[in-house]
Amino acid sequence: MNTTRAILAATLAAVAFVSGCANDSLSSAPTKTVRYNEPPLPAKAIPVLPNTPITPQVEPQCGDPTASLRPRSGASGPNIDDIRARGRLLVGLDTGSNLFSFRDPISGSVVGFDADIAREIARDLLGSPDLIEYRSLGSAEREDALQNHTVDLIAKTMTITCERRQRVSFSTVYLRAYQRVLAVKNSGINSLNDLAGRRVCVVRGTTSLDRIRHEQPGATVVSVPTWADCLVVLQQRQVDAVSTDDAILAGLAAQDPYYTQLVGGGISVEPYGIGIPKGDDDLVRFVNGTLERIRADGTWTKIYRQWLSVLGPPPEPPNPTYLD
Ligand code: GLU
Repeated sequence: MNTTRAILAATLAAVAFVSGCANDSLSSAPTKTVRYNEPPLPAKAIPVLPNTPITPQVEPQCGDPTASLRPRSGASGPNIDDIRARGRLLVGLDTGSNLFSFRDPISGSVVGFDADIAREIARDLLGSPDLIEYRSLGSAEREDALQNHTVDLIAKTMTITCERRQRVSFSTVYLRAYQRVLAVKNSGINSLNDLAGRRVCVVRGTTSLDRIRHEQPGATVVSVPTWADCLVVLQQRQVDAVSTDDAILAGLAAQDPYYTQLVGGGISVEPYGIGIPKGDDDLVRFVNGTLERIRADGTWTKIYRQWLSVLGPPPEPPNPTYLD
C-alpha cells in the first residue's frame, strides 16, 4: 500500500513538473488555435496533377501474353523439389484485399479468391492446402518479390502483360477482370469521361495507373500503396473516384455500399495470372496443371461462387492458351 502511494506521489510530481514546463513554453508561444479539417492522406500518397506529361511507353510485343507452358503429368524439377524439401509454399499477396486475400475477422486466416487458388496449388504440390506461408506485399512490390525469390509465387490480382513478361513468368489466365470506375454515389460521375477535372485514386505499380493516365489525362491522380488506402481517401473525400479492376472495386464497394458504386463500362480487359519467377518453368507447368484440375473438377466455379458472386453468376472458367 505504502509502495503504491509512493509511486502515485512520484507520478503526480512528475506530471506537475512536465505540465509546469509545458506551461512555461506555452506562455511564450503565440495563442493560435489550429483546426485540422482535412484528414491526413495515407503515408506515401502522391498526387499527380492533371495533364502531367506521360513518358510514352511502347508496350513490348510478345504475341499473346497469356500463352503459358503446358502442364506435364508428374511434373517435377528443381524449383518444385526445393518447395517440397522446404515443406511450405511461399505466396505473396495483399492481406487487405477484400474478396481476394484478406484476414477472416473470426479465424484470422487469410481467405479469398486468390488465397483459395494458392491453397489449391499447395494441395497439389505439398498434399495440404494449409502448407502456405504468406508474404504480405503491395502491388508495386510483386515483381521485385519474384525477382528476388522472396516468394515462390504471387497470387495477387496480377494482370498478365507483355511488359511484365520481360521480367516474370505467368501461369495461364485464372480470372478475367475489367478495369472500371468506383465513384461516390450521386457525385455526377457515371463514367471515365466524367473524371476530367476530378480526383481519382490509383495504386502505384499497376496497370490501372498507366491506363487511367492514358485514357483520362484530365484527371488528378492520387497514387497510394494499396487499394484499401484508396477506399480511405475516397471516404475522406480527398478523391472523387477509384479506378481499377471491377473485381477489386467490388471488394471496396462491399465495404461501403451506401456511399460508393461501380459506374461506367469496362475500360480494359485484365487477365489475371499467377506470377512466377522467370525461368521457373517446372513451377509454371505445375501451377497450370492445378488450374486445369480446378477448372475441370468444379473447384474454380465453387471458389468463384463463394467470393465473387457480387459480380454475378460464375462465368465459364477462362480457357487456357499454351505456348507449346
Ligand atoms: N490488375 C492490376 C495489376 O496487376 C491491378 C491489381 C492490383 O493492384 O493488385 O496491376
